Amino acid sequence: MPQARPSGVGPGPDCLAPLPPPTVRGMDEFDEFDEGLEADAQLPGVQSHDRWMRLALDEARAAAAEDEVPVGAIVVAGGRIIASAHNQREQLADPTAHAEMIAITQAAAALGSWRLEGCALYVTLEPCPMCAGAILQARVPVVVWGAADPKAGAVESLYRLFEDPRLNHRVDHVGRVLADECGRILTDFFRGKRRGPNAGPGAGSGA
Ligand SMILES: [Zn+2]
Repeated sequence: MPQARPSGVGPGPDCLAPLPPPTVRGMDEFDEFDEGLEADAQLPGVQSHDRWMRLALDEARAAAAEDEVPVGAIVVAGGRIIASAHNQREQLADPTAHAEMIAITQAAAALGSWRLEGCALYVTLEPCPMCAGAILQARVPVVVWGAADPKAGAVESLYRLFEDPRLNHRVDHVGRVLADECGRILTDFFRGKRRGPNAGPGAGSGA
């Protein structure tokens, strides 16, 4: 484990106030399905998806400014952000340092629980198999993603892990929220890269 994954917005001391206490469950850790969460009522509505995705986009821009592939993620619980992260694969020299992975770790720390009940994860790019796996492990009930990823997407493009009936959790998901904006930031980033080494960090990321 990396000692510290720098975070964008750390959870504040009062950010958990609206959350109910974590549901303590023992032997049902391996229950068959657990998507019927009582906390669903607190999850963001469709009308707020754009607003939260814009904050994930801010994280993606932060990644671009650090010369990282610009993908950003946030976790919302009880109407507040409890995790905010961007891809840091290069800086941490860590293949697992995708935005979602870091955000999930932050959110679990904020909740004091590996179960991210009552949480919605927003990410600017369709999650890859690794992140989709972590989302399933964390029992995240809702994922909202931006641009589709035809080369690695595990929600719709290559696999449909969130809907696989063989797995013991299913994830409600909404895709292509602010997809153009989320995709453009990536396109601009890679276009800047192709222009050559002198393009500099963050070149072309001014979406
Ligand atoms: Zn990933």
